[in-house]
Amino acid sequence: MRLSEVRPEDDTICVSQMQHFSVNDGEGIRSTVFLSGCPLRCRWCCNPETWTPTPKSGRLPGGKEETFGRFLTVDEVMKELARHTIFYRESGGGVTWSGGEPFFFPGNLRALVRACEDRGIPQAVETTCHFDWDECADIVGRLDFVFADIKHMDGGVARFVREHFRRPKIELLPYHDFGRMKYRMLGMESFWTDFETPSKERVASLEALIRSEGVEPVGYR
Ligand code: SF4
Repeated sequence: MRLSEVRPEDDTICVSQMQHFSVNDGEGIRSTVFLSGCPLRCRWCCNPETWTPTPKSGRLPGGKEETFGRFLTVDEVMKELARHTIFYRESGGGVTWSGGEPFFFPGNLRALVRACEDRGIPQAVETTCHFDWDECADIVGRLDFVFADIKHMDGGVARFVREHFRRPKIELLPYHDFGRMKYRMLGMESFWTDFETPSKERVASLEALIRSEGVEPVGYR
């Protein structure tokens, strides 16, 4: 059995976090919903609590226990989102599905996306694109915006973007170590020393390179 076929018997979905009033994950005021489960293990990952589809517990430095994630039904997710629809409507925002990899459990994402569509809530997704496009084409077709998180750019990836995305834009997300504490809390091995945050000058020079190719970099920070 593939991990992506594992689902709780009671049809709940492991939601790692629901972050409301988010302005960094698309247009307007949004709720970013982090769904647990990811097929990748990026060494720079700042959300290791989302790798497997179960809630995770750990201790903060002061000793207080913290739990990431809870099992929710689609109705429970929608009930919480319903309290924020006025902000989506007034700001041109909506819901952004994130993770983990939101497409890791396509059945879960499909159910959530359909429920939001029924309520007229605009939707975006943040994805690694590491999923079966034929199996998930109906989900992608219901979304207003796809943030394709490209881990390593090369000619093949560039071709994929050109073939699958209309009006692509590029946002550079410099490496950061905001998730360092989570590895400690969860007793997980981390690889933070392998990387360093690029300087503002380095990011600016890369943005200039993108601009020179005729693409305007965007930023939601
Ligand atoms: S795809 Fe995202 S959630 Fe998954 S390991 Fe990589 S950075 Fe972490």
